[in-house]
Parts: sequence; C-alpha cells; structure tokens
Amino acid sequence: MIESHDPFNAILQKARALVDDRKLEAVKAWKAAHPGALAIGHMPVWSPRALVEGMGALPVSYFGGGDQVDVIKGDAYFQSYICHIPRSTIEQALAGDLDALDGMMFPAICDVIRNLGGMWKMLFPEKLSFYLDLPQNFDPAIGGKFFALELKRLVRELEKRGAPKFDRDRMRAAIADENERRAALVELDELRRKEPHRMRASEAYIAVRAGGMMTAKEHTAMLRALLDAAKSRPARKFDNVRVVLVGSFCEQPPVDLVVTLERSGCDIIDDDLQLGMRMIEGPIDLDAAEDPVDCIALAYLRKGAASASRYIADLVKGRPLVEKVRQSGAEGVVFAAASFCDPALLDQPMLEAALTKEGIPFTTMKFAENTGQFQVIREQAGAFSDSVKLWGAA
Ligand code: SF4
Repeated sequence: MIESHDPFNAILQKARALVDDRKLEAVKAWKAAHPGALAIGHMPVWSPRALVEGMGALPVSYFGGGDQVDVIKGDAYFQSYICHIPRSTIEQALAGDLDALDGMMFPAICDVIRNLGGMWKMLFPEKLSFYLDLPQNFDPAIGGKFFALELKRLVRELEKRGAPKFDRDRMRAAIADENERRAALVELDELRRKEPHRMRASEAYIAVRAGGMMTAKEHTAMLRALLDAAKSRPARKFDNVRVVLVGSFCEQPPVDLVVTLERSGCDIIDDDLQLGMRMIEGPIDLDAAEDPVDCIALAYLRKGAASASRYIADLVKGRPLVEKVRQSGAEGVVFAAASFCDPALLDQPMLEAALTKEGIPFTTMKFAENTGQFQVIREQAGAFSDSVKLWGAA
C-alpha cells in the first residue's frame, strides 16, 4: 500500500488497516508490548470498555468477519434464518483468527448473541466467555444496583484470568480517558452535521471503528489529529440530501455500502453504525458514586442512547429518532438493518409510524455483512434522495 502524504488520508489509511485487521495483528503487537496483559473481545453493541481498560486489559471490539471471510464451518452452527455475524464469528474463531483474545464478552442484546456466547463457551472452555446482562429497570436502587453487581462480576472474572487487582485510581483514570474520547467523538459528530463534505460518514465510520482496536487515549489522539486535518482539507460540497441512517448498530454493512449511499446523493449526517462507542451520551460522571464501577453503571442507566438493543421502559418508541432528525436538520431517514436482525426489524415498524406521523420521509433496505452487490441499493437510495429533493420537506 502506498502511504498517502495528505494528513487526513494518511490517518484514515491507518484506521482502515485496523478495521481490516482480521487476524488481530494489532492486538498481538499490543500484547507483545504489554507482557501478561489480557485482551478481551466484545461483541456489539456496547460493553464497558473503560472498565476493561481500568483492569489493565485491552478491550477489542469485534464485528464479525465482514466481507473478508468465506463462511463454511460457521454455517453448520446456526440455522439459516438468522443474521450473518455469528457465522463469521465462529468461522474466524475456529480458524484461529481470534486466538489473541483471552476472552469475549457477549452483551445481552438478542437471542443470537446469547446462543453465540454459549457456543463460544463450549468451543473454547479455556477462555473467558462473559455474558453481560444489561439492566431492564432504570431505578438506581434496583436496575442500577443489579448492573453494578454485574460489572463487578466482570472485574472478578478478569482478576481470575490474571488481570491486576482492582484499583480505584486506575479505574478512575480509565474512565477519564474514555470521557476524553467521548468528547472527541462529539466534535467529530458535530463536524459531520455542520460540514458533511469535510467528514463523510464512511470516513467517520472507519475512524471510529478503528478505535475498537486501541486504548481510549490512543483513539482520542487519532480522532483529534483527524479533526485537525479535516478542518483544513480541500473538500467539495455536494447538493445532497441530509439523512440519518438507522438499524446498523450490530452487524455492520460493508464500507462500500456506506460509500454507495453517499454516491447516490445522501449526506449521512448521523447513524448508529458504531453505536457502542456513543452508547453513553456524554461523559461518565465520576462524582456519581464513590466506586468508579458504580459510576459506569449509573451512566449506562442515565445516559444510555435509545436503540432497538436497549430496553426503554415506558419511553415512546420513535420519539428519540424524530428528535434526532429535527435537531440535526436531516431531511429523511434510511433504515438499513442486517437481514434477520430481530431487534432492528421488530423496532422498525414503530419507528416508521413515528416518522410517518411527523411527515418525515424514509426508505428501507437490508444488507448482510458480506453483501457484494450495491447497484440495487444505489438505485433505491438515488430515487429516495431525488424524491426528497424534489418533493420532500421533513
Ligand atoms: S445483527 Fe441483530 S439479530 Fe444479529 S446478533 Fe446483532 S442484534 Fe442480534
């Protein structure tokens, strides 16, 4: 690969290499530089990365094999009518691609992830398999207490596997690092909304996803450098339609699909790709409790983003999406869910109803992580953006 001399593209090239690092070479390098330290993978959507870092380990976000892995064995483990991500996960795990991981976390977002966690446990009994139960009650004294206990169970599991003993100051420092990253992400998202031609959705996606392979501190430095480079980069404005992309919070579409949407006339000014990095909306309040682990639990309770993968108690489905569209000045919504993704597809009719009520145009499509044909998507998104330009007014 020829290294780009343009600062923006040079950073993105490095980020893309991490996104495409199927055999986790970067994780192996980190472990070689930190002898004895653990690397803990986590499936989408959200896992407590700050907690893992606070235990001296590297959290590694994993999103399946994407379009780079031929699934042969993985298909034998799952029925045909579920999404693709568990198949490529098993395929890669059996091939040894994920050997650098000392364990994997499976957040409770759907039955597929639950089953995958069980399979991981059977296939790799020597590795940590941590099923992370998420709260479905938002009273700090009930759901908050439960979730804090769940996070402390994770602390104990990491200690058992060789992580250094829990240390409050180290945990606080890791949370502070995570908050710095969060602040950089807010700036990046603001730039996308204000000047989408300076930071395309596909570029922001790569930059954010790459952070799943590094510490929060390293990622923040990378994001800050990218933001600086973006502000002075020569970039051409397009007469595109401003859209919000919804439904891709777990299995990720190929990057080329995001680029296809952009080329068909859409400025994707907000999306839920990489929702995990933004799940806690704002900093984790370190004054919320004496124990920093309790602070993480409370932040998830109080600042968790609305998503199909998160229980929302008696809040109204679709309202946060309508608010997002209004606040960001979007003109429409593109629903892009992974095929057979229960959480996304069960939520979608309620979200569509909320948009319809508000007169906000939308279009819907489905993908798999290994989708290779984009012509139909290009035509559909092109027709949508043209129709919004001609007739739509959100
Ligand atoms: S893509 Fe959807 S159904 Fe599949 S594992 Fe993710 S959340 Fe579950």
